[in-house]
Amino acid sequence: CGIFGVVGVQDAASFIALGLHALQHRGQEAGGIVTHDPQLGFNSARRFGYVRDNFTSSDIIESLPGPIGIGHVRYSTAGSKGQTAIRDVQPFFGEFAMGGAAIAHNGNITNANALRRELIERGSIFQSSSDSECIIHLMARSLQRNIPERMEDALRRVEGAFSVVAMTRTKLIGVRDPLGVRPLVLGKIGDGWCLASETCALDIIGAEFLREIEPGEMVVINADTGVESHFPFRPQPSKFCIFEHVYFSRPDSILGGRSVYETREAIGRELAKESPVEADLVCPVPDSGTPAAIGYSLESGIPYAMGIIRNQYMGRTFIEPTEQIRNMGVRLKLNVNRALIEGKRVILVDDSVVRGTTSRKIKEMILDAGAKEVHFRIASPPTAWPCFYGVDTPQREKLLAATMTEDEMTKHLAVDSLRFISLDGLYRAVGESQGRNKDCPQYCDACFSGEYPVTPADMVEQGFKM
Ligand code: 5GP
Ligand code: SF4
Ligand code: MG
Repeated sequence: CGIFGVVGVQDAASFIALGLHALQHRGQEAGGIVTHDPQLGFNSARRFGYVRDNFTSSDIIESLPGPIGIGHVRYSTAGSKGQTAIRDVQPFFGEFAMGGAAIAHNGNITNANALRRELIERGSIFQSSSDSECIIHLMARSLQRNIPERMEDALRRVEGAFSVVAMTRTKLIGVRDPLGVRPLVLGKIGDGWCLASETCALDIIGAEFLREIEPGEMVVINADTGVESHFPFRPQPSKFCIFEHVYFSRPDSILGGRSVYETREAIGRELAKESPVEADLVCPVPDSGTPAAIGYSLESGIPYAMGIIRNQYMGRTFIEPTEQIRNMGVRLKLNVNRALIEGKRVILVDDSVVRGTTSRKIKEMILDAGAKEVHFRIASPPTAWPCFYGVDTPQREKLLAATMTEDEMTKHLAVDSLRFISLDGLYRAVGESQGRNKDCPQYCDACFSGEYPVTPADMVEQGFKM
């Protein structure tokens, strides 16, 4: 998901709409905005679909008045069951002691089922099926004297991955979980401040990128008094999601002081060093494979070409929640550029192999177009484990790499060769020159290594074997 918040501007809603539009790649199912105006109180709007279709008219912006607000773009993750209901669309708002609060959450709470059971037993009335709603109820029950302290209280009970943007009537709050699994950045806009999942959302509104919120940090921002910072959790070694670098973030964002684009290009260079092959062309599977393909081409000296053309009017296929839609998606989205491919030995670079359905169809399309050889090079290690921290991966049985070796996958996809970047190579590409520290990995890489930095309690309860 993508989250955004702003305080100390005129018409917060228009800034939020723009910020969410820049974060649309993080969630395309639905979006929502909550604002507060001193005279008119809290207002909210939640809609299915794209930000540009829902939050750009002057009617909707005028219905969300005030100098402070937050917003969310949603895509459903591991915990959610099928189609999103409008009641599951964030931000969540709750009125309780001291005027209430609204929150927007990116990540996934791994003990949400247990918390929900306990809260319901004690009388909480849930409005949605979302894991994130637990935070509001925990805040409402807290005995602390102010909302930021109630939020600290609530978040200390929550396990898993959370970057949160929240608001009271006058304060904008930003928090990252102690591992810092999901990103969150702080920006300055005129006399105001903003918080966003990624720096690309600061660029669009002309805000200055000040810094990342630290893992385990809570910032409380007041338009008049500025930014206060606390560290309410027990400090732990950070575990930023390495897959944000590979796929999830936008290539024009800055993560951990590094350009995501440059990281992806470096991944492609590592791949070319680790798994060279003789060929005529390097083609990306667009758009997610593009920077890595450019890196592969630069390192290998094999010409780069756009052998597959993407229809720009389709979203990211994997973000569609049902398998049926996803299967159709490949053809709706990608087409082979026959004139370039015919008679050529082609290296295809993609970011990941998950179920293998995309890769299989792309290979068929490339062969139909007359390619002589097809070599897959993948910018991440084999995805063998599901993510429980906010990226939508299928159950373990559906992951190709969970049941097959690299050789078996090569046969299954019927390609001339298939190679994945090594875990160490990936760490080098994200800037860890010594590679992965086995005793304490510098990132979360659970979907590749099976080493989960937080026990996914709800899943273990449902029989998941780590
Ligand atoms: P596959 O055919 O292996 O399921 O899909 C791989 C391709 O689709 C990659 O290009 C990747 O960007 C995207 N993709 C498809 N499904 C998923 C998914 O469930 N999770 C992630 N992270 N990426 C996916
Ligand atoms: Fe990111 Fe993978 Fe960890 Fe999920 S399991 S947070 S996708 S690295
Ligand atoms: Mg892709």
